[in-house]
Amino acid sequence: MIRIYNTLTKRKEELIPLKEGWVRMYVCGPTVYGLIHIGNARPATVFDAFRRYLEYRGYKVIMVQNFTDIDDKIINKANEMGVDPQKLADTFIAEYFRDAHDLGIRPANFHPKTTDYIKEIIDMVQGLVDKGYAYVTKSGDVYFEVRKFEKYGKLSGKKIDDLVAGARVEPGEEKKDPLDFALWKSAKPGEPSWSSPWGEGRPGWHIECSAMSTALLGGSFDIHAGGEDLIFPHHENEKAQSEALHGECFAKYWMHNGMIRMTGEKMSKSLGNIFLVRNALKVFGRDAIRLFILSKHYRSPIDFSENILMDNKKAAERVWESLEKFESRYEEVPIPKYDSWMNERVEEFKEILDDDFNTPEAVALVFDLVKELNKAMDNSDEEKALKAYQLIKREFGPVLGLFDLSRERKELGKEKELIEILVDIRSKLREEKKFDLADEIRNRLSGVGVILKDSKDGTSWSVKS
Ligand SMILES: [Zn+2]
Repeated sequence: MIRIYNTLTKRKEELIPLKEGWVRMYVCGPTVYGLIHIGNARPATVFDAFRRYLEYRGYKVIMVQNFTDIDDKIINKANEMGVDPQKLADTFIAEYFRDAHDLGIRPANFHPKTTDYIKEIIDMVQGLVDKGYAYVTKSGDVYFEVRKFEKYGKLSGKKIDDLVAGARVEPGEEKKDPLDFALWKSAKPGEPSWSSPWGEGRPGWHIECSAMSTALLGGSFDIHAGGEDLIFPHHENEKAQSEALHGECFAKYWMHNGMIRMTGEKMSKSLGNIFLVRNALKVFGRDAIRLFILSKHYRSPIDFSENILMDNKKAAERVWESLEKFESRYEEVPIPKYDSWMNERVEEFKEILDDDFNTPEAVALVFDLVKELNKAMDNSDEEKALKAYQLIKREFGPVLGLFDLSRERKELGKEKELIEILVDIRSKLREEKKFDLADEIRNRLSGVGVILKDSKDGTSWSVKS
């Protein structure tokens, strides 16, 4: 039985999908106007791993993650750069896929973009106008009338009266009430726009996720996920407009990940304290970043620091070393027969993750198994080592998206071998007193950042960073 914390009910609940055996899941994706940072990597990594776990537990998962490709930030950035907003968005969607791939995140089943769903958005807004939940202003804006929706505030736990205190109508807005939010914005000069029953304009932010999730998953689905910074107003508004229109529960479970903080502050592009995924991947590698994220419970905040990432990099390297040491004994590592010891570990793994996706404990279990693997190798207990290897590399690793050595590590392995060959040949040249050629090898390796150091015990090498 899988239990997850539901933001809507504020407690852990058993996951009972609307359709048996299937989990339909919508994750709010990034607004595409720049390269993704570590803060974006968290929901992507966490919910990708959660999806892998659901599949591991036998569910079929349909996952949708959108791209917001029309928005003030995109328009401003495009104007700054003198490019078309749509081109800018498409560029960063491509860059997103590159980074996500390098992070070991599988594509969702659907990646809808807002501008591909303008018709669905307009239909939805019209539906809300027809039902009396939305109104059109003189200038052609359409607003959702929050007070008409009784359950407003239930998801975020906010009370209408408290919200009123902090809200105000901005100059130029034609809202009836400061709480109302835009479903459709009339076009401003120089902005991209689409024609609608209310004139030229573009969608407000919240309506896109309601329209795209309805189109791809239906008006009622299982899990809506995203960062906790989206609970209010974004998710509260999505829920209000969807339920007002469809008259049925929008998402049954709401999952929210905590924020990654830099010096205690939420990390986001608008605050400027960016740490780009691309840079972090170069310096620390995929497993270090995934371990950094999955070693904390998804609902807790994480404080970002380079030191923690470095620690995770070292930890990942130790695991690789153990796995590779074991792999080197085989042409192909065989699959052991699962016995009670292995099955107990599998049960433990499931129990841990069934409890609100407790990845820190699952990671700890994997590290315990690495200890077992090392111990078994030291004791020449081949059978035990094989069992531990199987669980780390083939059973649990893939669920967490960890220790997939096939790419990043094996390539490095080849380079290492080539360097060793050159160092060997150089030693032989030195023995034969062919110092010119030996020095040339040293100098040319140095030119590509490989530094050789001769001592009485032989030659060692290191890579200049
Ligand atoms: Zn959304």
